[in-house]
Amino acid sequence: MNHALFINNECVATDDMIEVENPATKEVIGTVANGGKQEALAAVDAAAAALPEWRAKTAAERGAYLQKWYELIQREEEEIAKLMTLEQGKPFAEALGEVRYANSFLSWYAEEGKRVYGETVPAAATNKRIFVQKQAIGVIAAITPWNFPAAMLTRKLGPALAAGCTAVMKPSELTPFTAYRIVELAKVAGIPKGVVNMITGDAQQIGETWMADERVRKVSFTGSTRVGKLLMRQAADTVKKLSLELGGHAPFIVTAQADIQKAVDGLIASKYRNGGQTCVCANRIYVHESIKAPFVEAFAAEMKKLKVGNGMEPDSHIGPLINEAAVAKVQKHIEDAQAKGGEVIFGQEADATNGYFQTPALIANATDDMLCMKEETFGPLAPIATYTSTEDVIERANHSPYGLAAYVYSNDLSEAVTIAERLEYGIVGLNDGLPSVAQAPFGGMKESGLGREGGHWGIEEYVEVKYISLQL
Ligand code: ADP
Repeated sequence: MNHALFINNECVATDDMIEVENPATKEVIGTVANGGKQEALAAVDAAAAALPEWRAKTAAERGAYLQKWYELIQREEEEIAKLMTLEQGKPFAEALGEVRYANSFLSWYAEEGKRVYGETVPAAATNKRIFVQKQAIGVIAAITPWNFPAAMLTRKLGPALAAGCTAVMKPSELTPFTAYRIVELAKVAGIPKGVVNMITGDAQQIGETWMADERVRKVSFTGSTRVGKLLMRQAADTVKKLSLELGGHAPFIVTAQADIQKAVDGLIASKYRNGGQTCVCANRIYVHESIKAPFVEAFAAEMKKLKVGNGMEPDSHIGPLINEAAVAKVQKHIEDAQAKGGEVIFGQEADATNGYFQTPALIANATDDMLCMKEETFGPLAPIATYTSTEDVIERANHSPYGLAAYVYSNDLSEAVTIAERLEYGIVGLNDGLPSVAQAPFGGMKESGLGREGGHWGIEEYVEVKYISLQL
């Protein structure tokens, strides 16, 4: 596989290429173009040229293109999922789940674009009228990470295109092939040239070029907090609107009133999705002291069933991590926990000889001073700490610069709602380990980001409010 850039519905070659590796085998599976400033500018030229016509279409017309795109992706979902497993590592069944989740943003926004309603407001004088309209913000830039190569793309392009924006985008150079196939299908769906443009290459140069370009009116980024903060600074000079989906450090609270097996199932689903490499994965687990022993036993029993292996093998539950640095980070967190008295119940081995594999690890007596209780591990490490009072666990859960997702398991309705309402997190899974869906708002508080993706909130990010004052 060798991919050029995708600008104006055409392939644009570059002199040199970047190699892409399969993290399960360390084999090079192909190359992608190495674009820079010039290519980044060409992509904006194309998006800016396509904007007037795309913006002028009716929402129903744009929705029909999105729906056609959705159908083409659906027809090819297995092939796209295979590509994803090959370049990203997640088990095929999970990759297929991601393609469907990704695609749901296209069909959902194909409809939602028709409901970007304006308002009329009672005026202060009898001879005046106040109209409020929402209009597409213009050219948008989307920068996406490697952990969800399909979903992070459509979560941005679905609402952006539905609102009437045109887009330039850059997927991660670690996982570009899934994104390319999806964007190629946009062309097959008949989406006019210049509406979607995708480039790969020198991330810093591409980022700087787009951030400095006044034609780009909005940037939507999913990735690390470090890069998110950099983009926020760079956005200041041209006052761009920003959406940032950054890191998280999700607390997972299991109260004395929880259904233990339900909590274990939710934790397995949340913790091991994508091998622990999602920003909403449970990072630190707080279990009420009175149920620690049965909880750890039930959790360990489920963990032992998880098979680590190449995602193309049908019985693998956990694929490889994305690269060597990812394995090293998990190992560092395990060593740090052990140095601070952590008891690793099992699973500390890494096997990075043929691929970047890491066995899931369980630390049964975690304390808040351990690195894994403060920083994102982004791997299959589950540290379990205990608590005694509700007040204490809420305070510890909120003691973080992050505020993306949190989870609470309790069968006591008042307790569950009280804790959920006091958590400083954008998303709370209440007896639910997998809360992400296209129609709900996904996003974080504090340093986890700005803005929301999904639902009617997601499309608001791509419109400007215009107030028209009419004097009769
Ligand atoms: P991760 O740790 O998930 O790889 P990053 O923030 O490094 O998170 O990457 C997310 C996306 O941001 C990727 O597409 C990456 O290439 C891009 N990126 C990295 N550095 C920059 C930068 N300086 N400016 C713009 N984009 C960047």
